[in-house]
Amino acid sequence: MVETDNNSISRGGELAGKIALVTGASRGIGRGIAQKLASLGATVLINYNGSRERAEALAAEIVENGGQAQCLGCDVSDFTACGSMVEEIIKKYGRVDILVNNAGVTRDNLIMRMSEEDYDRVLDTNLKGAFNTIRHLSRHFLKQRSGKIVNISSVSGVLGNPGQANYSASKAGLIGLTKSVARELASRGVCVNAVAPGFIDTDMTRALPEKAREAGVAAVPMGRMGSVEDIAETVAFLAGERANYITGQVICVDGGMAI
Ligand code: NAP
Repeated sequence: MVETDNNSISRGGELAGKIALVTGASRGIGRGIAQKLASLGATVLINYNGSRERAEALAAEIVENGGQAQCLGCDVSDFTACGSMVEEIIKKYGRVDILVNNAGVTRDNLIMRMSEEDYDRVLDTNLKGAFNTIRHLSRHFLKQRSGKIVNISSVSGVLGNPGQANYSASKAGLIGLTKSVARELASRGVCVNAVAPGFIDTDMTRALPEKAREAGVAAVPMGRMGSVEDIAETVAFLAGERANYITGQVICVDGGMAI
């Protein structure tokens, strides 16, 4: 574990004093969410899997800007490893106020050609990964009688998408997970919501062939890709006190794709 924090600097932002764990925060949307939560005063725990250097660079950047951050390497699909990560966090900070389940992968293919391995990899990371962190943190959230969980789903999970049976299943599953856990934790003041991004400019969509990118943009009524900031703004809202009476919801941030 690499640690970078600076307790001497505190900000009076909306999330000051909050501890936020963001999974898959080394790149893309997760990185943008971590930056946004840090800018609002939260201490951000940056989870990564393969991109250690990028996670460390982000933590250093946040600290340089006067915020607080720490990197935690962990494959979210590994139940035991998630348990150890949570244990380490609780030992140091005593709590987690905000959990953002953002880590996700794609392994696109037509159903006829999709391998079992690609199906399992996507489900294990995108859906079981969220189960793993929620499962290990839920008793802490219950004890605190407060907390915000935001799961990053996708319009693919809302609408379906050809070539993404595994991914769509994982993202639709996240919506079911969100609604059930929201019902379980609501009476203890814990809010659980999902954000469903549309077509966002990150490594994930940059890896698509040009034709697929063009088709993606053509499916957006607003006529353009979204940015990581578009998603981060909505997550920050759901993570803050202004959203205290919102739970079990799915907010599409997609330029109108899911209309
Ligand atoms: P990205 O640029 O490919 O970044 C994916 C992030 O997930 C990386 O930080 C990666 O970390 C992390 N990750 C992957 N597997 C992991 C694992 N097993 N354990 C921990 N972290 C893991 O993707 P993105 O576009 O930012 O997507 C972020 C989330 O938004 C995903 O859940 C994705 O499904 C969702 N989403 C994206 C779009 C879009 O258009 N981009 C649309 C809808 C939904 P390492 O590099 O450290 O391994």
